[in-house]
Amino acid sequence: MQLSVQRIVRRFGPVAALGGVDLEVAEGEFLTILGPSGSGKTTLLKAIAGFEIPDEGTVLLGGEDVTLAPPRQRDVGMVFQNYALFPHLTVAQNVAFPLEMRRRPRAEVARRVEDVLRLVELQSFGGRLPRQLSGGQQQRVALARAVVFGPRLLLLDEPFGALDRKLRESLQLEVRRLQRSLRLTTLFITHDQEEALIMSDRIAVMDKGRIQQIGLPGDLYARPATRFVADFLGESNLLEGTASAASASIPGFGEVPLAAPQPAGPVTLLLRPEALRLGGEVEALPCRARGTVVETVFLGLSAKLRLRLQDGPEVLARVPLRPSAPPPAAEGEVVTVGFSPEDVHVVPRA
Ligand code: ADP
Ligand code: MG
Repeated sequence: MQLSVQRIVRRFGPVAALGGVDLEVAEGEFLTILGPSGSGKTTLLKAIAGFEIPDEGTVLLGGEDVTLAPPRQRDVGMVFQNYALFPHLTVAQNVAFPLEMRRRPRAEVARRVEDVLRLVELQSFGGRLPRQLSGGQQQRVALARAVVFGPRLLLLDEPFGALDRKLRESLQLEVRRLQRSLRLTTLFITHDQEEALIMSDRIAVMDKGRIQQIGLPGDLYARPATRFVADFLGESNLLEGTASAASASIPGFGEVPLAAPQPAGPVTLLLRPEALRLGGEVEALPCRARGTVVETVFLGLSAKLRLRLQDGPEVLARVPLRPSAPPPAAEGEVVTVGFSPEDVHVVPRA
């Protein structure tokens, strides 16, 4: 493991910003920490970078214990949301800074700065000052500065938070390309689940100073380990009902067969909006309900429908659209929706 975080605790007065975090990142891996504001993401990153000394636990980098080492001894590159470039230095001087701190020979500095500026497609911007660049360009300079010295680990703390959507999307691809070509071990932080799903080899979902679940994006989406993960990653219908061995009684849908028998008592089923079907195919599905369309949102390739079930909760359905096909249902219409029991995931009780 390139990075190994073991039982890290960090308290601020009565608040435990980190309540015992374990995390392993393999060499060349891109791992994302996804969590809401205040969940402890930045504190975790600071503990790894050396800007925060944990109260308990250990940080290992390349097998070496760096828990108490100062930041500059860790060889970690960092990018923050607010660029943090030196305003009075040119782009090239900003990027050269970590190499000069490491007293690299002048010829090597010039060569590396040129190489990395080419990698982020800013080769002709070396002489500009940060204020003469757009936000996206400044963030690419920050990225170049973070990788120019060949760090053992790259840490990115919500680096695209201040950028508009289009720019964010192009930078997401660019960071991923750079990370792959340099085989950089990367820990990326975001509160944006879409961004996490797009970018990551693995995702760790964090809440209240703890990692709730860690895994492949597809696994977290299909089989969330907690209600929090189910709700935070992607859109979800969380259907509350009562289990009795091989089935669950779910208001609106009636008896829903379960793949794995559950203990008798309350149960939560996760049904993703795309698993809820409308139209002709519904009659063939074993689990059905009648409902009124409360709201329809057109999303281009698909439409999102909010429905109020008869004798049941509100649910979300996402239905694919074809350009020539009529809209699936109008607001106010009463329709039948259904799903296949294989598409249901039982959310484990906390
Ligand atoms: P995130 O980056 O996920 O938004 P943070 O790591 O910044 O979360 O903060 C986690 C918790 O720790 C929050 O409740 C925050 O208020 C608290 N916290 C972070 N830094 C400090 C500090 N220096 N002093 C006191 N409380 C802090
Ligand atoms: Mg933060």
